[in-house]
Amino acid sequence: MGTLVMKFGGSTVGTAAALAQVLSIILHEEKRWDNLIVVASALDGITDMMLEAAQLAQIGSARGYRRIAATIRTRHLALVELLPLGNLESTALQADIDRLLFEMLDICQQVANTPSEKLLPQISDAVAGVGERLSARIIAAMLRHNEVRSVAIDGSDIIVTDDAFGNANPILDETKNRIEQNLAPMLSRQIVPVVTGYIGATQTGNPTTIGRGGSDYTASIISQCIHADEVWIWSDVDGMMSTDPRQVNSAKIIEELSYSEVAELAYFGARILHARMIKPLQENNIALRIKNVYKPQHPGTIIHSNIDDEQHTLKAVTNIQGFVITAYRSGPVHDLIERVHEALYQASGSQMDTMLVSQSSSHTQICFVIPTTSGIETSNALSQMVYEALETVQDQDWTVSPVHIITAIGRNLDKHNEIIARIFESLQGMNILGVAQGPSGCSLSIVLNPADGVDALAYIHDLVLAS
Ligand code: ASP
Ligand code: MG
Repeated sequence: MGTLVMKFGGSTVGTAAALAQVLSIILHEEKRWDNLIVVASALDGITDMMLEAAQLAQIGSARGYRRIAATIRTRHLALVELLPLGNLESTALQADIDRLLFEMLDICQQVANTPSEKLLPQISDAVAGVGERLSARIIAAMLRHNEVRSVAIDGSDIIVTDDAFGNANPILDETKNRIEQNLAPMLSRQIVPVVTGYIGATQTGNPTTIGRGGSDYTASIISQCIHADEVWIWSDVDGMMSTDPRQVNSAKIIEELSYSEVAELAYFGARILHARMIKPLQENNIALRIKNVYKPQHPGTIIHSNIDDEQHTLKAVTNIQGFVITAYRSGPVHDLIERVHEALYQASGSQMDTMLVSQSSSHTQICFVIPTTSGIETSNALSQMVYEALETVQDQDWTVSPVHIITAIGRNLDKHNEIIARIFESLQGMNILGVAQGPSGCSLSIVLNPADGVDALAYIHDLVLAS
């Protein structure tokens, strides 16, 4: 039945019970599809611990990174102990775990021995990827023990990237070649490869990572190169939700989305998917499903191109936090815009993007919105840099303040002003600081004061439920 790529997220590989589900899902699908490729994330929390270990190495705390390595070792060994694997696989896995953690300790020790001002991103990439290398081996061993031919593959052997460490970009031609050489022959021999998500390597073999949550993207890159028919992302939720259930309790599962809708959802804060994974699937018309390992029969959310184009329901609404720079000025504003962009670029590197820029026609108010999703510290550092950059702009009256960005998502939103009117109507009495529409025509973002954010989310979600 063609080729299926299934990615299992951190929470689904973190416990023996979840892994039992993963195993039964793979065994089931393996019989149904001609080719099956598995992509594995690290056990939940492990990547954070790896990155922390690298940081501790940087400040010379051998005790700190060794403690983390020991905790990671204990957690993996305890998990292996609980899995029905048989002596042979168990012993081999334990040796693998020790070897990989030894490699990690080796890197940390080198870092600790060579004082430098800050941790190089190529070092944190080399350490961070160990989590996936551990989990992929565990899944492959489980499959072999269940009579499925399976091999763990390191993403660094097949995903060739540039050297934007921490958020590297795949070099497609070379990745395709590697996949044809290394992965395709396995498929024709009925082997199920279990590929580590999140990691790649430069042409010269330096380990890279493709952004936090990047295992989704790995699945998408492989699917594109191997011409897969479908990609299934397995996690512990039933699918994409119409809004954040922690903020609005009437949130529900979305059954079906177009690629553009899901891309906007991922971009504007639905953390369940890596934002960059959608484009390759859209371009190659590969269907995407989001499914729950604990409810494999539940259809989850499907994303595909066979969607009624005339339909225009409001599907979802998201809320992300950011900050806004408001400048009041009567003259031209280009120098100010340039300066802010430059400061943002310098401050954020590849970490952050200006998500939304809006400027009133009278040239008196400009707001840039940068999401704070990458953490409050980065956000504070960024606002400080913007602050300093702006201080050098003369004759200026401006403020930097926190905001919420509420984004309504639904196909053909741009062609249906009546929906947009209803959205604005629901926000009566709120101070709207900026508005922007996505080029795909399926998102409308509204910038509000933090005090209005959660109410606005609930009001617009009522419209989602009604549509
Ligand atoms: N383990 C990596 C992370 O925590 C990648 C992933 O989970 O997709 O970011
Ligand atoms: Mg994820």
